[in-house]
Amino acid sequence: MGEYRISEEAQKFLKDVCEAVGPPGFEDEVLRLFQAYGRRFADEVIRDNLGSLVFVKRGSRGKPRVLVAGHVDEVGFLVTSITKEGYITFTPLGGWFDQVLLAQRVVIRTRKGQVLGVITSKPPHLLTPEERQKVVTLDRMYVDVGATSEEEAKNLGIRIGDPIAPYSPFTISATGKTIMGKAFDDRLGAFVAIEALRYLRESGAEHPNTLYAAATVQEEVGLRGAQTVGWLVDHDVAIVTEVDIAGDVPGIDPRDAQAKLGKGPTIVTFDASMVPNQRLKEFAIEVAEEAKIPYQLSAIAKGGTDAGRLHLYKTGRPSIVIGVPTRHIHSHVSIVHFDDIANAVRLVAELVRRLDEERVTSFTGL
Ligand SMILES: [Zn+2]
Repeated sequence: MGEYRISEEAQKFLKDVCEAVGPPGFEDEVLRLFQAYGRRFADEVIRDNLGSLVFVKRGSRGKPRVLVAGHVDEVGFLVTSITKEGYITFTPLGGWFDQVLLAQRVVIRTRKGQVLGVITSKPPHLLTPEERQKVVTLDRMYVDVGATSEEEAKNLGIRIGDPIAPYSPFTISATGKTIMGKAFDDRLGAFVAIEALRYLRESGAEHPNTLYAAATVQEEVGLRGAQTVGWLVDHDVAIVTEVDIAGDVPGIDPRDAQAKLGKGPTIVTFDASMVPNQRLKEFAIEVAEEAKIPYQLSAIAKGGTDAGRLHLYKTGRPSIVIGVPTRHIHSHVSIVHFDDIANAVRLVAELVRRLDEERVTSFTGL
């Protein structure tokens, strides 16, 4: 295969999808961007009734059916009420640590368009010594959209049930090698899936199977999209492309997160939702070594992935998670390394090239 590189167009696409608003259940804006970008490289685009979008590329043989899946929802919130003074209360969609929220900007998507707001915080002058020691909990927070009455907030189009997402521009860091932004978890994984398909298409590489590159929905509220996308694809084997928690951050114990930025994608040996098929895991390691792609092993004791559902499809399906090390996930600004993204695409493509029927059958023999 020729060299894979993240083209200028691909980088612009990644920026657009990461900046789009799309908490669980509200992914259409993101999915439309995926459809516009990915349909040219696919033989067919299919969709299930929960919303997940799948790009199909037929290889030299129809079977096995290889599913590569990344989720396109992001952790966000939902409007629960508007106060008389025009403040917005909200409930989380996905897991948040309350401490990262105060004074952060958010976008509320309304039927009239997007409304920018900020999560309110008390000035230090007014905090009692006890208050300074405490984490303010999310259920005591408000979004200020700059309105001075309930009516004014409602006139902006804001209603109970509207989705709220972090506001965080996609930015290349000063080193030029890393990116800062939101929603890398897991639009980056879905990006890796579609880029692996594009790479196979543009390099003309043969693959003895049918590839299904999926952008799944509603992962952050319990792997829901993965449950229905299995029934759409009827996969024989699954590769889930996800962000992995980078442990090269002060305060993180290496035993809790092993991956380091820039040292290659991770082959996830374990997560809270799946013990991967061991032969598929060993195969992924072999392929990485053979193709000279840097990789890291990781174990995620806390946290599940779409693979948690995909490996339990029907009578069980061999599944593995390939991760892109990411710092500060589930916050407004995460950081990832360009090389890790590119190497994840290469690793997934090299795996897909080698997954023929005999190989996939061998994963489940005794
Ligand atoms: Zn997540």
